[in-house]
Amino acid sequence: MPKKYFCWSFDDGLEQDKKIIRILKKYEMGATFHLNSGLFGDKTYEGRIGNLGFIETPAAKYDPARFHLLPAVPHFRIPEDELKDVYEGFEIASHTRTHVNLAKCDEATRRREIQEDLAALSSIFGQKVTGFAYPYGTGAGQCHNVLKQAGVLYARTVGSDQSYHFPKDPLAMPMTSWHISSKAFDRIDQFLQMKPEEDDLFFLMFAHGYEFDFGTKESNWEKFERICERVSGKEDVVCCSIGEAFRQHQGR
Ligand SMILES: [Zn+2]
Repeated sequence: MPKKYFCWSFDDGLEQDKKIIRILKKYEMGATFHLNSGLFGDKTYEGRIGNLGFIETPAAKYDPARFHLLPAVPHFRIPEDELKDVYEGFEIASHTRTHVNLAKCDEATRRREIQEDLAALSSIFGQKVTGFAYPYGTGAGQCHNVLKQAGVLYARTVGSDQSYHFPKDPLAMPMTSWHISSKAFDRIDQFLQMKPEEDDLFFLMFAHGYEFDFGTKESNWEKFERICERVSGKEDVVCCSIGEAFRQHQGR
């Protein structure tokens, strides 16, 4: 019998992930967190334009008086000594070692950023890391071989796909919806109404924890919790990490 999988995907390993995890646990939902092992504990502020984060400013240089025209929220990464406790029970995946733009790096840098991050995360968490997300969503074309050789099973871009199917190319995997989209609930309701007939169905919801702090119409904590409420507890929907969805789907 085909199944329906709903997965959350969060990037950057932020302090907001702690609150996210409390809410996910309340609704018994899984998720995947994509971390940069070279930036643990790093603190910047993320400026907002509309619903999008744009300009990162190091915390030491952040002066609220000078930034009043551009609303900004903390983009504070969780320090290494807290990671194991915070993410216990959730899937950890790679996001490169220092959040580089892979489309603009040379081959040696791409290889190092990916391999070193996978190795560091696998060692810290004591689990083989097999998931990946491209910083800025770019570089899928250039990284296919490196990711494959490193044993990565899926790599998320920031493209979107309307089909509700598992990706044809898992190393260039689009999301189904970004949390900030005004169509997020339409997409969810469509997914919830669908009956998987021959193949499994898949919904990948993408977000950064800092976006919930924006408190705008389309990006706020209440919307995050309403999404969890809408999707969880359904008999025919498995709410798990991306890795778990792939394992179950491929094992079918
Ligand atoms: Zn990122």
